Amino acid sequence: MLKINIISIFPEYLKPLELSLLGKAQEKGLIEINIHDLRKHTDDVHHSVDDTPYGGGAGMVMSPQPWGLAIDEVSESSEHFDLIVLTPAGKKFDQKMAKNFASKNNLIFACGRYEGIDARVSQYYASKSNFTVHEVSIGDYVLGGGEVATMVIVEATARLIPGVLGNPDSLKEESHTLTNKDGSLVEYPSYTKPANWRGLDVPAILLSGNHGEIEKWRIKEAERRTQALTEE
Ligand code: SAM
Repeated sequence: MLKINIISIFPEYLKPLELSLLGKAQEKGLIEINIHDLRKHTDDVHHSVDDTPYGGGAGMVMSPQPWGLAIDEVSESSEHFDLIVLTPAGKKFDQKMAKNFASKNNLIFACGRYEGIDARVSQYYASKSNFTVHEVSIGDYVLGGGEVATMVIVEATARLIPGVLGNPDSLKEESHTLTNKDGSLVEYPSYTKPANWRGLDVPAILLSGNHGEIEKWRIKEAERRTQALTEE
C-alpha cells in the first residue's frame, strides 16, 4: 500500500483528496493519505514558520526547524522515504514521474509557501541513506503554495495504482501512455451517443464495427493531435 504524508500550513486546503477516486481508494485500503499541520512543530506564541532571507531581498523564507521536526515525525520507521519538495525551480512533473511515484511505498510532500523552504531541508534529507529527495515543479508558472501542486501529483500518481481505477484498461490507451515509434502520443478524440449532435456527426468509421480500421484511425488521430501540439 502506498502511504502518503503531506505537510502544509494549510491542511484544510487538501480536503478534496478525500473525494471521488482518491476517497474511494483510501476506503478500499489501496492508499493512505495523512495530512499534517507544519505549525504544530513551532514553539513560539505566533507559531511562526518563516523568517527574513539571508542576503536580503523581498518576502520570507520557510525556516528549516519546523520542517525538520515535521518530516522526522512522519519518517520514524526504518523504511525508505521519497520526499517530494514542491518548487517551481524543480524537475517538471510528467506521466513518467507519476509512474515512478506510484511504484513507491512512502511519499512525503512538503508544500512550500512564501518564498519557499530553506534549501538545507532538501540538502539534509538527500544526505540520509533512507531518503530520496525530488524537487518537483508542476509547470513553468508560480503558484502561491505547494498544496495545489501536491494534489495534482497525488491524483496523477494514485490513479496508476492497481485497483484504483474501476477499469484498468483505461490506463492503456490514454494521453502520454500511448506511443508510436517517435515517442509518446496524446489520446485520439472520443465520442459517445447521440451519433448526431447539433448537426455534427460522429466519424463514420467509429460506427462501422470494423475494429482493425477503428484502431488505425485512432492511431492516426492521436498522431495528428500530437503533431498539432508541436506546431502551436
Ligand atoms: N520564490 C519561489 C521561486 O521563485 O522559485 C516561489 C515561491 S512560491 C510563491 C511558494 C511555494 O509555492 C513554493 O515554495 C512551492 O511549494 C509552491 N509552488 C509555486 N509554484 C509551483 C510550481 N510551479 N510547482 C510546484 N510548486 C510550486
